[in-house]
Amino acid sequence: MEQMACPVCKKRFFDVSRIPLEKIEIQAKCPHCGKISTLEISNKNKKKPYRAKK
Ligand SMILES: [Zn+2]
Repeated sequence: MEQMACPVCKKRFFDVSRIPLEKIEIQAKCPHCGKISTLEISNKNKKKPYRAKK
């Protein structure tokens, strides 16, 4: 489970259970500060990319 932080207030925005291989954008309203922000989720941007365990 990955926690995405709100770019405005840095609090927990939402959780992602699976990071997609392709870059996606999610626009959502932060439950803490109420600001609508767009977050990019991508495997390539992560320091430790998600890998499926065999
Ligand atoms: Zn926020």
